[in-house]
Amino acid sequence: MLRFLTSIKNFELRNLSLLLFGVLFLGFGFVGKLFAQQTDVVDFLKAEVTVTPISAEKKIKGIVKYTFKILQKTDSVFLDAKNMKVVNFALEGVVVKAEADKIWLLDNFEEGRTYTAFFTYEAVPQQTLYFPGNEIWTQGQGKYTSHWLPSIDDINDKIEFDLTVASSEAENVIANGKLLKTEERNGQKYWHFDMKEPMSSYLVAFAIGNFDKKDLVSNSGIPLALFYKPKDTLKVEPTYRYSKRIFDFLETEISVPYPWQNYKQVPVRDFLYAGMENTTATFFSEAFMVDSTGFNDRNYVNVNAHELAHQWFGDMVTEKASEDHWLQEGFATYYALLAEKEIFGDDYYYWQLYQNAEQLKAASDEGKGESLLNPKASSLTFYQKGAWALHILRERIGDEAFKTAIKNYLEKYKFKNVSTEDFLKEVKAVSEVDISEFEKNWLQQSAFQSEEAYQSLLKSSFIIKYFEVSALRAVPFLDKKLQLKTALTFPNDFIGQEAIYQLVEEPISETLPLYKTAFESNNLYVRQAVALSLQTIPKELQTEYESLLNDESYVTIESALYQTWTQFPEKRVEYLNKTKGIEGFQNKNIRQLWLALAIITEGYENSEKENYLNELKNYTSPDYSFEIREKAFEYVNQLQLWDLETLKNLVEACVHPTWRFAKSSKELLNSVIQDKKQYEQVKVLGRQVSEKTANYLNSIIKE
Ligand SMILES: [Zn+2]
Repeated sequence: MLRFLTSIKNFELRNLSLLLFGVLFLGFGFVGKLFAQQTDVVDFLKAEVTVTPISAEKKIKGIVKYTFKILQKTDSVFLDAKNMKVVNFALEGVVVKAEADKIWLLDNFEEGRTYTAFFTYEAVPQQTLYFPGNEIWTQGQGKYTSHWLPSIDDINDKIEFDLTVASSEAENVIANGKLLKTEERNGQKYWHFDMKEPMSSYLVAFAIGNFDKKDLVSNSGIPLALFYKPKDTLKVEPTYRYSKRIFDFLETEISVPYPWQNYKQVPVRDFLYAGMENTTATFFSEAFMVDSTGFNDRNYVNVNAHELAHQWFGDMVTEKASEDHWLQEGFATYYALLAEKEIFGDDYYYWQLYQNAEQLKAASDEGKGESLLNPKASSLTFYQKGAWALHILRERIGDEAFKTAIKNYLEKYKFKNVSTEDFLKEVKAVSEVDISEFEKNWLQQSAFQSEEAYQSLLKSSFIIKYFEVSALRAVPFLDKKLQLKTALTFPNDFIGQEAIYQLVEEPISETLPLYKTAFESNNLYVRQAVALSLQTIPKELQTEYESLLNDESYVTIESALYQTWTQFPEKRVEYLNKTKGIEGFQNKNIRQLWLALAIITEGYENSEKENYLNELKNYTSPDYSFEIREKAFEYVNQLQLWDLETLKNLVEACVHPTWRFAKSSKELLNSVIQDKKQYEQVKVLGRQVSEKTANYLNSIIKE
């Protein structure tokens, strides 16, 4: 069994708040633009595209051939294209003309006829195409593909995109569809991909980098390619654990064959989100690359299943407008939960539903409940409330009708756009059950139906047991001691964790035997709850607490290392020697904590101190991913190791494309320059940083 540590967040340690990794979100509210007029006039059918990204200039050159059918006589149609330069176009036929955010195709177009436009273009995209380290990748949804490829921002025009991407000879390219062949020409390698079916432009994508891959084949014969960086060989199995099982499960559960030729997954550096369901080519944050210990703390299973579910719900059938967004996110969240239920069991499924219900109820009680059909709803609504709505709908109409409705809905609207009405029509066609109450309460109503959700949760005997134990929160300790002790040995992690949290406020003299029981339970997650919640370690528990340093969890080890080092100074050398060389998660959480502690431990490896200092400071540099840098900045700040180089790295981080990282860097810089000396140092950086960074600096330096 495996757990995310959602319930632990209230117990984070003050100085280790950095230890709880930021919640990576799975996507974002996608606000579709509507150009209803244009889809009535023209249908873009096919795009044959060759692109050459140029890292040094963060630029892209492309050649495109668009085939389109005219639906209404007109003299012009457009492609969305942000700040693009048309370099050349075919002399005969369609005239091509660029404007600030469009490329116009001009001719005396006649109704019913099919035309082609052929041109070359260049662009320096401000977003959507990114060049972190030695990688290049795209993110279309929320960012608009039209920044790197003339295409259609309106999700309602689906196009068959056949991409050819140029790379250097040593690199690997992943893009939508099937790789037909590669060719070498003028020192470049051209990768030709083929799509057979159309998709919305936000799903077009490519990634270039130094990747290896592991190949699998689904039960139905679909090739599955799992990409990874060569240094991550040992992380391949834990990261991609259950990938084939998830694929086979979803195909069976959904009862509609996977709609594309193949499926690829690629971990990319500095990714903006947890994962993105580009058609046939999911990109995901490399922070999910874990070894077998890291797997116990955070794993890729949920994101893996979520993005795969989108290949049907989102990629094959696509929302018509933003008010139908739950048809993508609610469905992907729900099917990911079903996949996790298949792997981790019913308790896990109900626990996630319960956690989601708690969040939805809290928002709703604050008056922040939203209708599922609100086009501007939050992720919580589109994702979690959407999944709850499907769970309830299935209970109402039964498994068989639910599965038939899903199948009919997908088959009927294959490669088309859909509305909530379209889906409900298919439900009504196969079920006699009146769903008007469901529509009112779960789709239209803004308040969360917590009573109905509660009744549904009570179908799980585990949830009933959990509610019994959590109800003890109100009971005086001496009256519940025995029940908590039983809970600690219950073979379910969540119930044991709940028991541990109830010890926090009680005097240690009373709770000591229960902590002993918790340590002896050998339950990784119960022990982890102790590591994260026990603030002062009594001498009587020292040996047990030290054993946490051996647990197969980087969350536990990080907390235990910090706590033992702090509370038992006489054994610092021993703790450091024991944890030397452990890297931890992709952000090097254990290594960086270790370096910080080694640097400040008096007399510890004095001859190496300089190296440790440099290693830690160097992790702030753009050579590393933002997750590593973010942590390094925190340690550099805590230990006050700021110098010209680290300050420069911090200033550069303020304009990083990853919004979350830029934001935390700005906040940190703002507090750092309150110090006069550091302020003076930052001021002189103006001439050593990029133009974008210099502009940002000018905006905060006020003199
Ligand atoms: Zn999603």
